[in-house]
Amino acid sequence: MSKRAIVLGGGIGGVVAARALRRSLDRVDEVVLIDKNPDHLFAPSLLWVMIGNRRPDQIRRPLSGLERYGIRFVQGEVTEVDPVARRVELAGRSFEADYLLLSPGLRTQSGSFGQLPHAHNLYTMEGAEALGRALAKGSAPGEGTVLVTTTESFYRCPAAPYEAALLIRDRLRDRPSVRVVFHAAESTPMGVAGPHVSAAVKSMLAARGVEYRPDSPLTVEGDVICDRQGAAVEAGLVAFVPEHRPAEFLVKSKLLGEHGGISVDRQMRTNWPGVFAVGDATAIRLSNGKLLPRAGVFAHAQAEVASAAIAADAAGRSAQRRFQGHGQCFLEIGGGRAAFARGNFLAEPEPDVRLYSPSFFGRFAKFLFEQHWLRTRL
Ligand SMILES: Cc1cc2nc3c(=O)[nH]c(=O)nc-3n(C[C@H](O)[C@H](O)[C@H](O)COP(=O)(O)OP(=O)(O)OC[C@H]3O[C@@H](n4cnc5c(N)ncnc54)[C@H](O)[C@@H]3O)c2cc1C
Repeated sequence: MSKRAIVLGGGIGGVVAARALRRSLDRVDEVVLIDKNPDHLFAPSLLWVMIGNRRPDQIRRPLSGLERYGIRFVQGEVTEVDPVARRVELAGRSFEADYLLLSPGLRTQSGSFGQLPHAHNLYTMEGAEALGRALAKGSAPGEGTVLVTTTESFYRCPAAPYEAALLIRDRLRDRPSVRVVFHAAESTPMGVAGPHVSAAVKSMLAARGVEYRPDSPLTVEGDVICDRQGAAVEAGLVAFVPEHRPAEFLVKSKLLGEHGGISVDRQMRTNWPGVFAVGDATAIRLSNGKLLPRAGVFAHAQAEVASAAIAADAAGRSAQRRFQGHGQCFLEIGGGRAAFARGNFLAEPEPDVRLYSPSFFGRFAKFLFEQHWLRTRL
């Protein structure tokens, strides 16, 4: 009898999983991908939209493009998941599956920063475009300070706001009098990667003139940005990382574990038979007590592991692959150069991560990775 696998989410984890499932399941089996949006967005390139290196259409791809690989795409917002029946509910429709693979990422909300006309959410297309316009015009930065801030210490891709601050500094290189100030909610940059990586990132910020204020979360009172002591923080332009929360259907389900994410084993199986989860929606505790960072590189690896487990299960075999915790990321610093971090986050007793010095080759590799993704995945 033919089987049906449903992938919930057409982001990095969902697209990798759907393609891998289509390759490994029997031709008569059905692979369905559901997403509320019509397009896949390659989020890492939002930072290039912000500095005017990409147009929005260059980093989006229609999810309907998956149909040419034999994957059925359904556009709609999932409002409920029943992990026992392996059923997902959309407005007016419901789908049941033999296998359910959840990759809904995290929901973001702009919070009080979203009410300020000169503050833009760095993690959305609209925010990246608005920042791009302001940086190009120079009107807001001309008022003195560009503020980069993480509203909470938990967010997707620990490198992204640091990269954003360095790229903004580079974009404003002909206006050295404009200050770029980074107020971070966290105590150190990319802390999960270890003290040597944090120290290296701090020196990159200092060397390029980004003023870094760790452990310094900001609040918004009326239309004034305030520091912990209640003093006003002036800025002509603000790039902020939003608050991250689980998808609404997860909040009302039994699927969320104690760390605000879906609990999974190393084959990305949840506590419910036939239900798998990957990517930012999961929570994996590391040997040092911290949580695995939410990043596309892990969503990608986990999607391959989960798909292999589903294919093995469907064929009546036992699955061999496990999520190993290896990851890498680029940290672009401006001037056409990017550093590169790589390591094993599941190493014991601490993640074992190394940061390689910025180079032109690093920046070129980042470009090649983006192009490979956009040209071959969808
Ligand atoms: C600015 C920026 C830079 C980044 N840079 C990097 C980087 O350099 N390297 C790296 O590894 N990671 C990076 N990341 C993080 C990376 O993008 C995410 O970790 C990754 O996309 C997570 O994949 P995912 O599949 O778990 O979730 P997502 O890619 O977020 O996909 C989730 C999908 O689920 C859909 N969805 C959610 N809820 C529902 C619902 N109820 N019904 C239907 N559909 C739903 C969404 O529409 C979305 O398409 C960056 C992120 C940002 C914002």
